[in-house]
Amino acid sequence: MTESPERDAAGKVVMLGRCPNCSKRAVLDYRPFCSKRCADLDLGRWLSGDYAIPAVESDDPDDEDHAPGSPDKF
Ligand SMILES: [Zn+2]
Repeated sequence: MTESPERDAAGKVVMLGRCPNCSKRAVLDYRPFCSKRCADLDLGRWLSGDYAIPAVESDDPDDEDHAPGSPDKF
């Protein structure tokens, strides 16, 4: 199987990859997706938070306070 290059409006050859959603050939109008449907699906996934980075609560404000019994508390 060979991937034939596509051309954009200016006639420039552009290699389109595969749709990250369904692995079909991407189309110029919706690249890197194969269709508006897949583009919308991906956008919807973003909006619904599937790609959201999980919040990590590593900053414990209590860390700034001296623990009871700390020598600094003298
Ligand atoms: Zn697709």
